[in-house]
Amino acid sequence: MDFTLREEHRLLQALCRDFARQEIAPYAEEWYNTGRFPVEVFRKMADLQLMGLLIPKEYGGSDAGTVALVAAMEEIAKVDQSIAASWQAHLTIGSLPLLLFGSEAQKQRWLVPLARGEKLGAFGLTEPQAGSDAANIQTTAVLDGDSWVINGRKCFISNAGTELSYGVVLLAVSGTNSDGKKRYSAFVVPRDTPGYTIGPPYPKIGWHTVDTRELIFDHCRVPRDHLLGEEGMGFRQFMRTLEVGRISIAALALGLCQACLELSLAYARQRYAFGKPLSQHQAIQFKLADMATATEMVRLLTYKAAWLRDQGLPYGREAAMAKLAASEAAVRAADEAVQIHGGYGYIRELPVSRFYLDAKILTIGEGTSEIQRLVIARQLGC
Ligand SMILES: Cc1cc2nc3c(=O)[nH]c(=O)nc-3n(C[C@H](O)[C@H](O)[C@H](O)COP(=O)(O)OP(=O)(O)OC[C@H]3O[C@@H](n4cnc5c(N)ncnc54)[C@H](O)[C@@H]3O)c2cc1C
Repeated sequence: MDFTLREEHRLLQALCRDFARQEIAPYAEEWYNTGRFPVEVFRKMADLQLMGLLIPKEYGGSDAGTVALVAAMEEIAKVDQSIAASWQAHLTIGSLPLLLFGSEAQKQRWLVPLARGEKLGAFGLTEPQAGSDAANIQTTAVLDGDSWVINGRKCFISNAGTELSYGVVLLAVSGTNSDGKKRYSAFVVPRDTPGYTIGPPYPKIGWHTVDTRELIFDHCRVPRDHLLGEEGMGFRQFMRTLEVGRISIAALALGLCQACLELSLAYARQRYAFGKPLSQHQAIQFKLADMATATEMVRLLTYKAAWLRDQGLPYGREAAMAKLAASEAAVRAADEAVQIHGGYGYIRELPVSRFYLDAKILTIGEGTSEIQRLVIARQLGC
């Protein structure tokens, strides 16, 4: 076994650490307060070839791999969860359906601009009445002559309305089998398609600069070649894509845990109470020790899932475990970080307050903690 990162992973990690320090940290609080999606950051990330980490070079990506993605994501996530969240949604669920299931023509048309960072990817699964119960989606796609006509609504779709957003890969019901079971298919729907309406951004507790919106499809007609892969295979395609997304959400959570630990440790060393630094009070030491242990556990699980994927081995169970453990550890880490900072932790100027607001979504997005437990239990044979 080898727990060290390879040289190219360390270089990528250092690049992302410097980028986060210079291009994100000075502005993170301002963006958080205004909620503006900082498109310029993503353009700079494109210049550094950071927008296609999982995409082969022949399609404009850097083919860095999943371990590299985790190493890179932690560095950005330590500084700004919103930027990391938009980035991870683009890298995984926003781009991978095209790589994994798209035809050569679809890859050239839509994947190449995504991998180069000229466009931002979005993934349309959730609907107002169907999140965890994804099979209950109501959006329909009906074949009419040489085109598919899409009707329905998608909610909470990230990266849906930015300057770089090209459209969405969505899941729709495309028919029923003879036994009455629904058939699902995935479609690429460009945002300039007539009948495609983008709602205003949702006001959110955290992830303030993530551009998350409702999308409405009213007789949205797309040519037949916008169907992704085979008709009837969409549900499986979307579930497979989400497995990768879970690793990158775990990496987001890892960054949050590490940042909360570092900030809390630094604060506990310099803040005095009852004549000595907080870090010399055993109750605070125990909190820090627990945070460090949880962070290490999250790191090991997340890298293991990423490594399995890079080896071409099954990784669905480990991805669900990593997402579950990491997101729940992140919520606890943010809570303890604010506690260690006392009243100052509750004041919006310090980054820990931002992490506190950003942590909760990690146990909800891309499959809630309950759904991860269902996935793991199913893999156990329950
Ligand atoms: C900021 C943000 C960004 C998002 N981005 C995207 C995106 O880009 N694309 C996209 O498609 N979606 C996106 N989502 C949607 C997200 O994936 C869903 O919110 C999530 O999957 C939960 O679905 P729901 O909100 O419908 O909750 P529900 O499914 O209604 O669940 C409510 C509660 O019931 C629990 N529950 C449900 N079923 C069970 C069960 N069988 N057993 C036990 N407990 C259960 C859930 O765990 C949860 O606690 C985003 C959401 C947010 C808030």
